[in-house]
Amino acid sequence: MSITAATKAKSFLPFHRAMIGPEEIDAALEVLRSGWLTTGPRVREFETAFAEYVAAEHALAVNSCTAALHLALRTIGVAEGDEVILPTMTFAACGEVVLYLRARPVLVDSKKNSSNIDPAEVARAITPRTRAILAVHFAGEACDMDAILGVARAHRLKVVEDAAHALPSRFRGRMIGTLGDITCFSFYATKTLTTGEGGMATTNNHEYAERMRILSLHGISRDAWKRYTAEGSWRYDILEAGYKYNLTDLQAALGLAQLAKCDAMRARRARIAARYDRALALLDWIHRPQFRDDSDHAWHLYVIRVETSRLLVDRDRVIEELKSQSIGTSVHFIPLHLHPLYHQLGYRKGQFPNAEKQFSGAISLPIYPGMTDDDVDRVIEALAEIGRLYRR
Ligand SMILES: *Cc1c(COP(=O)(O)O)cnc(C)c1O
Repeated sequence: MSITAATKAKSFLPFHRAMIGPEEIDAALEVLRSGWLTTGPRVREFETAFAEYVAAEHALAVNSCTAALHLALRTIGVAEGDEVILPTMTFAACGEVVLYLRARPVLVDSKKNSSNIDPAEVARAITPRTRAILAVHFAGEACDMDAILGVARAHRLKVVEDAAHALPSRFRGRMIGTLGDITCFSFYATKTLTTGEGGMATTNNHEYAERMRILSLHGISRDAWKRYTAEGSWRYDILEAGYKYNLTDLQAALGLAQLAKCDAMRARRARIAARYDRALALLDWIHRPQFRDDSDHAWHLYVIRVETSRLLVDRDRVIEELKSQSIGTSVHFIPLHLHPLYHQLGYRKGQFPNAEKQFSGAISLPIYPGMTDDDVDRVIEALAEIGRLYRR
């Protein structure tokens, strides 16, 4: 083996690497030099730019998508004893924010061969206690929002969208950001736009926007953050028990720099997805992600499903094999109903067959703008090699 080949074999290809360039670094330094570190002018600028980007009337920057989801559900009126319908195929945050409000997370299955919620199952899960539907745009593929909004309208339910994966995504030409009542985005380290940690809630409803803004900073009357500025006053009123969910200017500066690259980063991810698609079509033990062809996918994740009936090994072993070739992967997600917390709430294994089938074979491959074509080919080649070794 040549030295370059040996070095290459060892170099770890991570599952994700944030695209941080001189723009982000300069923007962060500028904030540090300004002397104003927490919520201030950069946050307001980020909110304005973000609202414009997703074509929403209002955007509220917060310190995580989890915080945004919590504020959204509380703002639309979810309270003790209510039910919120959500997919079992999602992240911990979605169910836990329902529990914060002493409401019940009502889990439903995904569509067949998909990880997005099944609108027919949503309709079946509605009871007199249902208050809201929490729709998750898995991997960056929009849910069937026409169907979900139709069910919601018929039963007078609110719709909150978890768009943690969906920046930027469109549903039949419409940008994700205002289709439901409130939409929540994540700027966690691995997401398509990152501020390290952070989130955004967008809405076209002025009252919701105001209420979330107040709740996000201790329930203090409007513009509480201004009390330390030249125009601010030391006076404030605490209107209700809120939270400490504000984003900092340091993070917003990163967000602004990232937002400027958002379309270019999506274009690169889409090219990587197409490259995977072409090559993996030749491996009959891999199901490639199926997606709507009438909507723009954000390609936050590229999730394959291993058809283990065609392999001598299971999904976990495939992940181990990739790891031994220094390729990082992940699994999205372990469905909520398979976790001990949800067993306490009465959910059981076997309840949601589509989600369980998807999960049992799921592997999220690396997909991020910093990957070169060679990196992508390395993943493809590693999978082809696994097929040569273990195909039944
Ligand atoms: C990442 C993620 C969240 C939580 O985002 P944070 O910003 O880390 O709170 C919520 N929902 C989904 C589907 C996610 O992937």
